[in-house]
Amino acid sequence: MAGIYIHIPFCKTKCHYCDFYKTTDFGAKTDFVSALNQEIEWRKNELQQEEIASIYFGGGTPSVLKIEEISSILHHLSNCFSVADDVEITLEANPDDLIPEFLEGIKNTPVNRLSIGTQSFHDADLKSMNRRHNSQQALASIQAARDAGIQNISIDLIYGLPNQTLADWKDNVLKAVALDVQHISAYHLTYHEGTVFYEYLKKGKIKELPDELSFDQFKLLLSELKKAGFEQYEISNFARNQRYSRHNKAYWERKKYLGFGPSAHSFDHQSRRWNVSSLRKYLQAIDEKGPFWETEVLSPQDQYNDYMITSLRTKWGISLNYLQTNFASKYVSHFQHEAEKYLESKHLYLEDGIYRLSDEGLFISDKIMEELFYME
Ligand code: SF4
Repeated sequence: MAGIYIHIPFCKTKCHYCDFYKTTDFGAKTDFVSALNQEIEWRKNELQQEEIASIYFGGGTPSVLKIEEISSILHHLSNCFSVADDVEITLEANPDDLIPEFLEGIKNTPVNRLSIGTQSFHDADLKSMNRRHNSQQALASIQAARDAGIQNISIDLIYGLPNQTLADWKDNVLKAVALDVQHISAYHLTYHEGTVFYEYLKKGKIKELPDELSFDQFKLLLSELKKAGFEQYEISNFARNQRYSRHNKAYWERKKYLGFGPSAHSFDHQSRRWNVSSLRKYLQAIDEKGPFWETEVLSPQDQYNDYMITSLRTKWGISLNYLQTNFASKYVSHFQHEAEKYLESKHLYLEDGIYRLSDEGLFISDKIMEELFYME
């Protein structure tokens, strides 16, 4: 089973925290869809008939596409690949795009899951992030999607925002829970270089939340979602009734995937490939049939480090047996040596040969992963 990722690089405005590749210039949108369909056709033999279990439209903002454009991309995919009958097709959507006409149109496509960029139910947060929607649209969009018959809905939330109190965050989490969605992705704000928030931080216009408050927000998230029947299956991802995101899960399980569109990444166990992060260069290269990607062959060390970064973050953890079967003994010894101190500090726990993060460990997972990495 493999997956497909489609990068739609258009956004009506740019959010202050976002470092994904996107453009606010929609002039080349029609050309982009043609180029994307061309890329799909060129690469149709790359998965050698492996069945596609998940198709994910990310971005950017896929909900700025017309229904005919979404259908045309899906049509090309099903002509070029062996798509499973029960494929999960997710479309990321901004709340303000989820108007009745769009939802009605989506219902008539094979898209069967929406990932809505809610982020917050508070106007002050949304304004500070430069989101296009307001709190009323955030709530209404989820109800509208459900009313339109879309059963599988995920929402994104952000915490750790400047000035966000524990009470503000609790209100967001409780509102999300009350909406009865199947999946929640909740990310702590990261100040990425090149974003407006990063500049504000450097200039002292905003302040990072104290670590203690961030940790309290994280703990609150875990406890409220647990109470509401959500299972945490990755640091930032929670699902009810095992409605895990197939796209995310496949990525963490290091299944093969193809990424189409500017900045999209692909992975086939032995190598990674990434398309150019420029719509102009992408369109030009497709037009001239020139290369528009770079490739990196993964060394055993890269593969070990990939396993650390993708596995430790999930509830399925790191399997000692998998390590011993797939990696040279120097990697296994390094892992066991580095993991030992985190077992002692109870940031990790070991059960039936599987190493997993404790709640405390989840919060410092980046540091733990860094130390588990093998660097020659
Ligand atoms: S967060 Fe989403 S909508 Fe906002 S700029 Fe980034 S890709 Fe666009």
